[in-house]
Amino acid sequence: MDAMNVTLEFDWKSDFPKARKAALVTDSNVDRLYGDMIVRQIEDTGLQVERIVFPAGEKSKTLETYAELVRGFAALGLTRTDFAIALGGGVVGDLTGFAAATYMRGIGFVQVPTTLLAMVDSSIGGKTGVDIPEGKNLVGAFHLPKRIIRNAGFLETLPEKEMKNGLAEMIKTAVLFDAEMFAALRELSTKGAQGERKEELKKWVERCAQWKQKIVDEDFKEGGKRKLLNLGHTFGHAIEAASNFQLGHGECVAIGMRIVDRDVPEIGEILDLYGFPQIEDVFAPPLCLSAAKILELIANDKKRSGETITLIVPRKVGECELVETPMNDLGGWLA
Ligand code: ADP
Ligand code: ZN
Repeated sequence: MDAMNVTLEFDWKSDFPKARKAALVTDSNVDRLYGDMIVRQIEDTGLQVERIVFPAGEKSKTLETYAELVRGFAALGLTRTDFAIALGGGVVGDLTGFAAATYMRGIGFVQVPTTLLAMVDSSIGGKTGVDIPEGKNLVGAFHLPKRIIRNAGFLETLPEKEMKNGLAEMIKTAVLFDAEMFAALRELSTKGAQGERKEELKKWVERCAQWKQKIVDEDFKEGGKRKLLNLGHTFGHAIEAASNFQLGHGECVAIGMRIVDRDVPEIGEILDLYGFPQIEDVFAPPLCLSAAKILELIANDKKRSGETITLIVPRKVGECELVETPMNDLGGWLA
């Protein structure tokens, strides 16, 4: 699909009064769709901007791409008062944020999320980093963007598969905090045409992002409340890794929510309405994962503390609990 015109409110002078230059970091897909349009808009504000583009996809989220970015910043002569702009999904945001966190011991950056997942989740909260062969997101830093410029217009070109990744996080947020949004998302699932659905969904993007913003403002370093955002992710991450990333993040989070939704059947229902996979799909062909493998991966989870792990268990829509669970009891949830 051709890119529609997306106009950003780009008031960089209040965030970076001394800036003369910015590096616009993006991936090959987003560049093709929006690169020229956004560069033009930024230049019109009187800022010099240079583009750094890397190949689209999670496979680019490496130390090598990170090195290209920081070396790119140096080649452009970015100083500590200049900044970087991440135009793209979670991969672009994580890489750019990490490069900004470390270049000259930290320069500012702005997030311009273009995927639903990035709009409602990954661009918020300052988690940045890269994958290494030993594991996803194993190297990184907390580095908050100075500003997040959200514009749901980018969703016009986003493929349905990518929409679903974000949708799973929106359902998660609704289950955690917002029964009204849950009801609206449920209602929306029955809307026929995908285009119409997208239009309606856009209305909830801002609200969903605000929930995440509120939680990370209250608990930046994930000592307490922010852990709630892991709903569906303890099992979800393990299933994602066990499937060798054949399943999408949203699909895995959906399955992870199904595993802990025993008290709240509405969660399974909404996931059915949107066509997310079932728990059984994980154990059946073609994936044929074993419960033992999933449990082993959770045992290696970086969020585990000692012999227990904090599971997020829904009690009703809009209310979930942190449950300290002995590692030995986890298998019971898969039974
Ligand atoms: P995520 O945001 O889900 O973490 P990525 O950053 O890998 O994931 O983005 C997912 C895919 O969607 C990538 O191939 C990316 O190039 C593409 N993409 C990002 N934004 C858009 C958009 N607005 N329209 C079309 N494709 C997009
Ligand atoms: Zn997630």
